Amino acid sequence: MTCEAVIGLEIHAQLRTASKIFCGCSTAFGAPPNTHVCPVCLGFPGALPVLNRSAVDFGIRAALALGCRVNPTSIFARKNYFYPDLPKGYQISQYERPLAERGLIEANADYWGPERDIRITRVHLEEDAGKLLHEGFADSERRSYVDLNRAGTPLVEIVTEPDLRQAKEAASFFGYLRELLMAMDVNDGNMEEGSLRCDANVSIRQLSSESLGVKVEVKNLNSFRFLERALDYEIERQAEMLRRGEPILQETRLWDSDSDTTVSMRSKEHAHDYRYFPEPDLPPLVLDDARVKEIREAMPEAPAAKRRRLEKMYGLARLDVVNLTIEPGLDGYFEEMVRHQANPREAKNWVLGAVRAKINEARVGVAQMRSALSPAALASLLALVEKGAISGAMAKGVFETMFQSGRSADDIVRDEGLAQIDDDAQIAELIAGVLAENGDAVAQYHAGKAATFGFLVGQVMKATRGKANPKRVNDLLRKRLDADR
Ligand code: ADP
Ligand code: ZN
Ligand code: MG
Repeated sequence: MTCEAVIGLEIHAQLRTASKIFCGCSTAFGAPPNTHVCPVCLGFPGALPVLNRSAVDFGIRAALALGCRVNPTSIFARKNYFYPDLPKGYQISQYERPLAERGLIEANADYWGPERDIRITRVHLEEDAGKLLHEGFADSERRSYVDLNRAGTPLVEIVTEPDLRQAKEAASFFGYLRELLMAMDVNDGNMEEGSLRCDANVSIRQLSSESLGVKVEVKNLNSFRFLERALDYEIERQAEMLRRGEPILQETRLWDSDSDTTVSMRSKEHAHDYRYFPEPDLPPLVLDDARVKEIREAMPEAPAAKRRRLEKMYGLARLDVVNLTIEPGLDGYFEEMVRHQANPREAKNWVLGAVRAKINEARVGVAQMRSALSPAALASLLALVEKGAISGAMAKGVFETMFQSGRSADDIVRDEGLAQIDDDAQIAELIAGVLAENGDAVAQYHAGKAATFGFLVGQVMKATRGKANPKRVNDLLRKRLDADR
């Protein structure tokens, strides 16, 4: 029996607002526990939520990037459950009427986009819960602590249709989504800090079957590797049960990275009944076309579109474009150099060469690199090479000095006397000196020993400390020797 896996993802992405979704508390990560809290996010009775406008704008932008239609009216609902990280006893979310629906990520949307169309079911707004701390305290063996700084952080939940078929594909789709959300500036992509998390739903069915099998949900996968491995494990586990003729139970499982397995958390029998009902303290969210249109028009360029544009506009190879866009910000550095008249091929070589190496070596981000050595400044260094003022080899050293000192390429070249000697008269003078000192070599050359020519070129270059234009030296030396014959 050949079977296939069917996978749907539910992704939670924190929105990059400065304050929480229903109160003015900061969303900054890493503050001392329970310092970014107030009566609203602590769930005090009588405290009223007020919707954060920019959370809605971010949510709309995410939804549009996923190709969704934004609903003119959406409704906040209370999702009731008990857990110690949820002080109100309910999470404000959207249920029957979400922010947006029916999106699509098209097959091969990008170099590493999914292999088939992935439909987006819905995108809705909700608040994050707090965090339980099970480790790091003297009495962590006996007690858990709660930090409510995260409670009320705005999230979008993105739900896909069960359109994915392989663990690897699911992981690469999740990666694509992460890059998209980061490019839209709605999410910081930091999975270690929990800004982006994924629940995976997976079932198995016979290849020819039209209907879906019973699904298992694996919760809270916070890395691509865990997502892929959890799915691989789960697909194999379910396939094995099917082979043995055992029924698959609908349940929620957790990935245990220590044992590389999934373990059951709760079965369908114990499934939550969230008793959703409309949030009485918040009116329906009504969005007019003008607002959605304004957000659409101000959207940053999506990564796939950007890569296509870079290829076309600058005639770059696909691999170069991949390398320029794989590290966020390098492509911007490159384009700014080109705007400052750098030749695209040369600019690309420098960004993927010296600039990238420097970023790695100095362990700085692109932003820090920019402030140490701006794209405009580097473009002016390239201009010096282009017009022959300094050699390419020399430019590497100037680059280093620019990075260390912040001085301009022109200043460094002038102050350190690095300019290439292009002046024929000056070169001729140096040649005369070298010939006078190397009478033997000159005699050998005239006797027909051609190899001596290279030696003499080397002597002239040495006399100029490498600053003479080598081509000019060659021409002038040849002329001079032949004239003396
Ligand atoms: P629930 O009501 O349990 O939350 P939903 O229908 O809302 O289930 O679907 C949640 C996620 O599970 C979605 O991403 C959906 O695509 C996926 N899903 C639903 N049914 C299946 C199935 N049989 N196999 C795999 N994934 C599924
Ligand atoms: Zn608050
Ligand atoms: Mg659901």
